[in-house]
Amino acid sequence: MSDNDCLFCKMVSGDISPDIVYENDHVLAFRDINPRAPVHVLVIPKNHVPTLADLDNPEIAAQCLLAAKTVAELEGLSENGYRTVINCKQWGGQEVYHLHLHVLGGRAMTWPPG
Ligand code: AMP
Repeated sequence: MSDNDCLFCKMVSGDISPDIVYENDHVLAFRDINPRAPVHVLVIPKNHVPTLADLDNPEIAAQCLLAAKTVAELEGLSENGYRTVINCKQWGGQEVYHLHLHVLGGRAMTWPPG
C-alpha cells in the first residue's frame, strides 16, 4: 500500500534516496533533513498510513516501536536515553502525512514540548 503523492512513500520505493540508518521488511529509518537534535532519525512503516489516528494494524505499531529502539542502539543513544515523538494531524504539528516516529537524542531533552 503506497500513495504516489506521498514524500515518504517515495523514499520506500527508492524514487527519493534518504540517508538510511536502518531498514527491514516492515520499516525504514532515515535521518531527518532538518535535525532538531544531534541525532534525529525518522522511523516510518513501509505501508502508507497517513497518521497515528489511522493506525489499526498492531504489527505495524510494534515494528515501528521496535525499530525506534534499534535505531537508538545503533546511534549510541540507549545508555543516556532519548526522546520519541509522533506528531498527529494539525494540532500535533504533523507536516508529512505518512506516519513517522521521531527518534531524537545526543542531548538532554526538555519537558513539556511546545
Ligand atoms: P512532522 O512535523 O512530525 O510531520 O515531521 C516531518 C519531518 O520530516 C520534519 O522533521 C522534516 O524535517 C522531515 N522531512 C521533510 N522532508 C524530508 C526529507 N526529504 N528527508 C528527510 N526528512 C524530511
